[in-house]
Amino acid sequence: MTIYADNAATTKMSRTAIDAMLPYFEHIYGNPSSLHTVGQNAAEALDEFRGTIAKTLGVTAQEIYFTSGGSESDNQAILTAARYGERKDKRHIISTAFEHHAVLHTLKKLEKQGYEIELLDVGPTGTITAEQVKNAIRFDTCLVTVMYANNEIGSVMPIAEIGKVCREHGVYFHTDAVQAVGHLPINIPEQNIDMLSLSAHKFHGPKGVGVLYVRRGIPVATLIEGGAQERGKRAGTENLAGIAGMTAALTEAVTNMEENNRKVQRLRDRLIEGLTKIPHSALNGDPVNRLPGNVHLCFEGIEGESLLLMLDEYGICASSGSACTSGSLDPSHVLLAIGRPHEIAHGSLRLSLSEENTDEDVDVMLEKIPEVVEYLRNMSPLWRDKVNGKKEFVL
Ligand SMILES: *Cc1c(COP(=O)(O)O)cnc(C)c1O
Repeated sequence: MTIYADNAATTKMSRTAIDAMLPYFEHIYGNPSSLHTVGQNAAEALDEFRGTIAKTLGVTAQEIYFTSGGSESDNQAILTAARYGERKDKRHIISTAFEHHAVLHTLKKLEKQGYEIELLDVGPTGTITAEQVKNAIRFDTCLVTVMYANNEIGSVMPIAEIGKVCREHGVYFHTDAVQAVGHLPINIPEQNIDMLSLSAHKFHGPKGVGVLYVRRGIPVATLIEGGAQERGKRAGTENLAGIAGMTAALTEAVTNMEENNRKVQRLRDRLIEGLTKIPHSALNGDPVNRLPGNVHLCFEGIEGESLLLMLDEYGICASSGSACTSGSLDPSHVLLAIGRPHEIAHGSLRLSLSEENTDEDVDVMLEKIPEVVEYLRNMSPLWRDKVNGKKEFVL
């Protein structure tokens, strides 16, 4: 039996999304740029999908750019603001210390090109306030980029309030909403979002396809040069099957959001309640403003990697944080940003649930995880020192 609890890394595709893709491999396989009927059928479908996605997000079709996913959308949004800033002589960018690497590494690159990057402190619960953003905005700020919800610890940012502050100050506001779209209600105009990134494979759609929303009037900078696709702003023959799957998955996720969230939140809260009973453990992220499926804890005295490997033996697929940092020995930048010491940050566990998880899954996890934590602690000389009082407990 496999218990998949790593939905923040990627999700299983829904049957609806798979079925929506198949015609675009078999029948409507044309290139939307071709003038013949096969091509024009593809172009019509592309228009329809763009319209559906725009409507779901409360925006217009002209503001939707199809991309290869969240990373590309983040890169292009930030580059767009940076090019604008260059023309206006504004090179100050505000972000947070716990963004996804698609944002942080893009900002690092800009820093080397002379931009000033200011990363706001996310505090012990891993959130920022609109007040912090307001205080950081300067005459030369060209962008505020703040993630909608954190992919590791699940905390949800006050996006509408941040959007309001940015609009009042005439500063572009981008949000990496990859973890939020399909899981939390989003209304781009009401939340004063200027640019938004989303990725299909985080809401049961296919991998390798996403959207960058850019509000009309903002001059979009090009990342990929070539043909005139996406109104000349993103070259490359459109991934029509992927876009079909993404559109179906998004529609399905938004339609079932309330019901799914009720279910997933209940499972999440059972897990949090049970696992925080483990001595010397701590919940990471905001306990209230939290993604419906996110459970993230630190256990003192263990290595997250060992925990994951042992859980895998029981068929439990979990993560220590983000898929991008696993494999490296550095502790998660997110856990360091919320002030967890290195030693504690190493003992982390993320369980990210979807509506496919069941109460039985939770029962198994609540049985196995405490057992494995105890087993690993008993093998650790450091843990023994703590138990014998030779070293202090941190948690
Ligand atoms: C997964 C993820 C990304 C990257 O999206 P890809 O489509 O895999 O490139 C970016 N930001 C966040 C918050 C994510 O969770």
